[in-house]
Formats: sequence, C-alpha cells, structure tokens
Amino acid sequence: MNESVRNTVILGSGCSGLTAAIYAARANLKPLLIQGHEPGGQLSMTTLVENFPGWPEGIQGPELIENMHKQAERFGTEFHTGHLVSADLSKRPFELNLGRETILTKTLIIASGASARWLGLPNEQALIGHGVSSCATCDGFFFSGKDIAVIGGGDSAMEEALFLTRFATKVSLIHRRDAFRASKIMLDRARKHEKIEFLTNTVVDDVLDVSRKEVTGLKLRDLKTEKTWDLPVAAMFLGIGHHPNATAFGDQLDKDADGYLVTKDYVFTRVPGVFACGDVQDRRYRQAITAAGTGCMAAIEVERFLEEHGA
Ligand code: NAP
Repeated sequence: MNESVRNTVILGSGCSGLTAAIYAARANLKPLLIQGHEPGGQLSMTTLVENFPGWPEGIQGPELIENMHKQAERFGTEFHTGHLVSADLSKRPFELNLGRETILTKTLIIASGASARWLGLPNEQALIGHGVSSCATCDGFFFSGKDIAVIGGGDSAMEEALFLTRFATKVSLIHRRDAFRASKIMLDRARKHEKIEFLTNTVVDDVLDVSRKEVTGLKLRDLKTEKTWDLPVAAMFLGIGHHPNATAFGDQLDKDADGYLVTKDYVFTRVPGVFACGDVQDRRYRQAITAAGTGCMAAIEVERFLEEHGA
C-alpha cells in the first residue's frame, strides 16, 4: 500500500462503500477501500436491478457494482482485499488490524453492510440469483404468475409475503414454529390475504433443482409428523433476518440490540472521525439507493472532519 497513514479508509465494497470512495477520491483524499469476503455486497448477489434511478431498462446488480468500482478507481481509490479482525478506535490515527497487517488512518468509513441470513441448505448458495433470494423488492417481479415460497415468521417474512402477492399466484409462508415473532398487524394482514398459505411447524430440507440452474421446488418436512414432501415453487425468498457486519468493533461503537451501528445525523458514530453508512447502520430501508446516499454523506463528512482537524 502506498501511504503509512491514510486520510480515510473505507470498509466495504458494496454500493455504499463505493459511493463513499467516489466522493472521497474526487475530493483528492486518496481513499483506501478494503473489500472483504463478499466483494460488491448484496448487489453483487442479485440479478436485474430495476429500481436504481438512471437505468430505465434496469441493470444487472454485478454490472452496477462493477461500474461504481471503475468510477471509484478512475478518481484514485486504492483497493485492497482483507478482512478486519479488530480495530482500535481509541488511538489517533485509528488502527485497523487485518490479521497480517495493520493499517493506520485518520478517518474511517464503515460500509461493511449486513449479510442476509441463509438457511444453509446443500443447494441454496448455488441457486442464489436463480430463484433463491433474500430481497423481495429486488427480485419479486421476476416471478410474476408463479408460485413462491417465503421462509420466516418475523415482520420481514410477512412483509415479503405480502409484497410478493402482487406478482405470485400463490405465496406459501413456511415457518418452523406455529408462534410468530411478527407484529400482530402484519401477521393478521398476511393471514387474511387470500393468496398466502401458511405452512407452520415446517422446515425446508433443500431447494431444487440445481441441475436446471433454477428453483423448481422445495423439499419440506413437517416437524410434528416428520412427513416430507416436495412443494413446487419457482422461487424461495428468505425472510429470516440479516446480521450487520460490525462485530470487529466490539463495544467501541454504539449498537442496537441486533448489532446494527447506531448513528446520529445519518452517518456520525460516537467516535469523532468514524462514520457509518449503508446497511450496517440502516435496518429500515436497506435499498441500494439509500446505501449509496449515506455513503455520499459519510465521504462529505470525512472531508469536513479532515479540514477541521488540519489534515
Ligand atoms: P426476526 O424478527 O428476527 O425474525 C426472523 C424469523 O426467521 C423468525 O421467525 C425466526 O424463527 C426465523 N428464522 C431465523 N433463523 C431461521 C432458520 N435457520 N430457519 C428457519 N427460520 C428461521 O427478523 P426480521 O423479520 O428480519 O425482523 C427484524 C427486525 O426488523 C424486527 O424488529 C422487525 O420488527 C423489524 N422489521 C420491521 C418491519 C416493518 O415494521 N415493516 C419489516 C421488517 C422488519 P423463530 O421465530 O422460530 O426464531
């Protein structure tokens, strides 16, 4: 890497981190962007993105990310692959421990995102983007006129199921218990919907059919009777929650009960000079465009911070 103490380090290569990089690089801060295990973030796992403004015909998620990457690179962002093991935010400059190396930086933008929880089924990962999805808003449209399954018993699952009734002929909501975490209002709404069928005390043992590179059905099991059967569906949407990627910071930053970073005025953490943007601090909207928006804000705040602190 080029410099011993960086002006700013951006953690995360999804659309929030890349937007922050574009802004920071154009401000001549020579940002260093660290990309981890899931380069490109959640967008790189989706197919067609039709709701990102400026792409009237839609754009493939990986292409959108690649474009942002090129744009950030063009203005001088330096990219580095690594995984943050721990950070010391009590020192100035901040110390980022990536295992085999330590990076020093005057400011930090945390854009490490949230990873969807998956069920861990044998064929699940191979079918992501081919009928397995964790984002109904992104991918529901592709299954118009088809039968769809949603997994989970919380508000996310209810919200996804209700949203998917716009496209699907039938939505099977599959939940491992018969008690629900979802709020009563969401649950009632889903229960009353004529297109939604509830399958409770039921788990998914696998998703079919990897040889066809598309979802054709689910292998289900009733936990009470141990009966197994195949449910034909064209898609499986996971609504079993996300986990924010912020564990490396321990208790140095404020987090909510589920580990999301708590920010004030959109992107400020409790440590001056450390900003957070995108899904690691946003459990409410979780959209590419909102992640890009807060990425922009974080970079602008970094610029202001460095000016004020005589960098
Ligand atoms: P959640 O409330 O934690 O619910 C996750 C659900 O997934 C639970 O029903 C859980 O089952 C199930 N689940 C987890 N792991 C599973 C596994 N391995 N196999 C099968 N099922 C599994 O998560 P969420 O629904 O994403 O909601 C998170 C927070 O965001 C909540 O506070 C929620 O109210 C909020 N939220 C609000 C809205 C809204 O108000 N519009 C929308 C979305 C989310 P168990 O119940 O058996 O543990």
